[in-house]
Amino acid sequence: MTKCQVLDVKCYMPLIDNFGRSIHDLRISITDRCNYKCVYCRTGTNGAAYAELPFADYLRMARVLVGLGITKIRLTGGEPLLRKGIVEFVRDLATLRTADGAKPEIALTTNGHLLAEIAQPLKDAGLDRVTISMDAVDPERVARITRVPNGYESVLAGVRAARWAELDPVKINCVLLRGFNEDQVIPFGMFAREERVVVRFIEFMPLEEGRVWTPEIVVRLDEIVSRMSEYLPLEEIAHERSETARRYRFADGVGEIGIIAPVSHPFCGHCSRIRITSDGKLRTCLFSVWDHDLHELMRRGATDEKLAEFIMHAVEKKEERHHIGEPGFVPASRTMVHIGG
Ligand code: SAM
Repeated sequence: MTKCQVLDVKCYMPLIDNFGRSIHDLRISITDRCNYKCVYCRTGTNGAAYAELPFADYLRMARVLVGLGITKIRLTGGEPLLRKGIVEFVRDLATLRTADGAKPEIALTTNGHLLAEIAQPLKDAGLDRVTISMDAVDPERVARITRVPNGYESVLAGVRAARWAELDPVKINCVLLRGFNEDQVIPFGMFAREERVVVRFIEFMPLEEGRVWTPEIVVRLDEIVSRMSEYLPLEEIAHERSETARRYRFADGVGEIGIIAPVSHPFCGHCSRIRITSDGKLRTCLFSVWDHDLHELMRRGATDEKLAEFIMHAVEKKEERHHIGEPGFVPASRTMVHIGG
């Protein structure tokens, strides 16, 4: 790849890895604290493990990365709404400009618990879209999964506030676990239609703190499609290559669901993502066994040019694919809550 001679924010170099994949999606974890302790994600006893940076540091990283071709920025965590100042941070991100002179698309992944109050201010600040995690549509089950009593009503209020604020589309992420919530497929189909949201089922990946993953626990794409089809027939919708979800609409035209199937239908060949952790490490894959210390470089006074060079070198070496379910699978060096999902 040709390197830019004088690399500043006006010099838009696309980020391309050694497998020819173009990287344009950035996820920034702004904290690894979380107010939920979902049973498939956390042990329930471990807390935050990594530092949080001032928003100005994430903003600088984002600015350099937008200069390198990033067009979508998703804020995540931990639970990103636990960070005070997130509205102002979104407002600052919204001032960045991509190579086309456009505002980068700004999205948020949240458990929704604190969303109702802040959905409109976030929208006004420049947030485009929100994804809310919800693993059951009944209050008792949500409490068992999250290990937090009475969360369901708050999350539902968050979903409705997001729609009211026209954060469009509102997506719901649901991780299905065999023997735990796989019976929620049809209730979520109904929920998608009634609440006018896109529900996306995610296959459970081996990224949890407790190391409980087995191939048998995973509820796979084919099974989800077949269970949902018992409720109403589905039609597959064409999707973009880099889109993680396979998309389906109900045959009567009301409602859409998606299935993100990294285990049964890996999409690494089209991966367009990189991540920054709450403590400022660059990760090129969810399953990376190391990370790249971008923040340390900043702390030592590196210029934007040096940061951009460092990022380009890291991206070149992006992992070809994950090895979930293969003999000798090496777990990622961090679990999901400490990477940023
Ligand atoms: N707290 C926010 C939330 O709940 O959306 C953001 C962080 S959370 C780690 C991001 C997403 O990762 C959630 O939708 C969660 O369900 C999903 N997730 C967590 N662990 C997972 C795993 N092992 N496999 C698949 N998805 C997982």
